[in-house]
Amino acid sequence: MPPTPPTPPADADLWARERGALDDLAALSLRRSIVSTEGGQGHHVRVDGEALAHFTSNNYLGLATDPRLIDAAVEATRRHGTSVSASRLLAGSTPLHGELEQRLAALKSRQRCLLYSSGYLANLGVIAALSGPGDVVFSDRLNHASIIDACRIASSRTVIYEHLDLANLESQLRDTEAERRLIVTETVFSMDGDIAPLPELVALADRFNALLVLDEAHATGVLGDDGAGALSHFGLADAPALIIGTLSKALGSVGGFVAADETAISYLLNRSRSFIFNTALAPGAVAAALAALDIVQSEPQRRERLHTLAARLRDGLEAAAFSTRPSETQIVPMLIGEAAAAVAMEQRLREAGVFAKAVRPPTVPEGTSRIRFNVMATHDDDDIQRVLDAIA
Ligand SMILES: *Cc1c(COP(=O)(O)O)cnc(C)c1O
Repeated sequence: MPPTPPTPPADADLWARERGALDDLAALSLRRSIVSTEGGQGHHVRVDGEALAHFTSNNYLGLATDPRLIDAAVEATRRHGTSVSASRLLAGSTPLHGELEQRLAALKSRQRCLLYSSGYLANLGVIAALSGPGDVVFSDRLNHASIIDACRIASSRTVIYEHLDLANLESQLRDTEAERRLIVTETVFSMDGDIAPLPELVALADRFNALLVLDEAHATGVLGDDGAGALSHFGLADAPALIIGTLSKALGSVGGFVAADETAISYLLNRSRSFIFNTALAPGAVAAALAALDIVQSEPQRRERLHTLAARLRDGLEAAAFSTRPSETQIVPMLIGEAAAAVAMEQRLREAGVFAKAVRPPTVPEGTSRIRFNVMATHDDDDIQRVLDAIA
């Protein structure tokens, strides 16, 4: 006879641990919730029926509400359906998928590109496939969670170097035995809006024969010639590197990609689990990204406007004695310090008609809670002024 399991007490609470954790988060002003918005991610957004100046969107160029992207998505959906209903390696590929890969490869000056369903899945699938036992991934301390998770599932070892600290990276590269070294960094960092020193990183990767992996999530469409990204911004468009990106930020769609040498892409197509075992992007998303690339290349004034507005916001915040940290881009942090104070500031901004979110630990280090403003090219001067008036 199998042993009888112990009878649980009648009032057993299977979720006691989670309930306790949620209570602890609330006590520390760290509990999160979801806010619904309506009317699309334009420079104004409706929250609870109220129109607010929108500073939490990654829709940097305003393309997610552009009629040309919407029309392209509708047209592709009519032709190819709402879903491809399979992995690319089965029936899940349309001519649009191949066309978008060619356009992204050209934009990034790489031989070939492979689409993923998101930037998150691109990081997981690329880093885990290219690093094996005996290899070491050198990862910037402030890298995005998708890079951290990629290092966790990879069979390689991870060495964290201090944020943008080249001397620290160099000494770790020198002191660590490895069959293959990968250096992984964001090019524009999502919490501080600072730019990685790519000339130095390219040189270090070359000296140590390391593979440089650049996450261009916040740089694609925003920096460089034709919005090609941060490598182009530094005049290094052809430098050897594997480039990961997302379609979900400046490109106004959803999805991710990797651009690299032909051999690397062929290998990933055969070995990258988040590519192989995942349904391919919906045709509408692919068509919207293609339309976005046309606009990114033909309307450079959007990028210029974005950088002008971001500089105006940074100058105004600094003039009001708020640190904007090392921001040089459309991501503009306003340092507050404690999480509770950041939440109070978020509330004050909301009352002044500004929708901007507090960013708290664990997303940012303890004591560096902040409001993060994401500027959009479609903001008007009044939107920026509304922020500066609210904090005055
Ligand atoms: C947003 C982001 C991602 C994830 O991209 P999604 O397409 O939203 O999954 C990856 N890396 C960085 C640095 C990001 O900011």
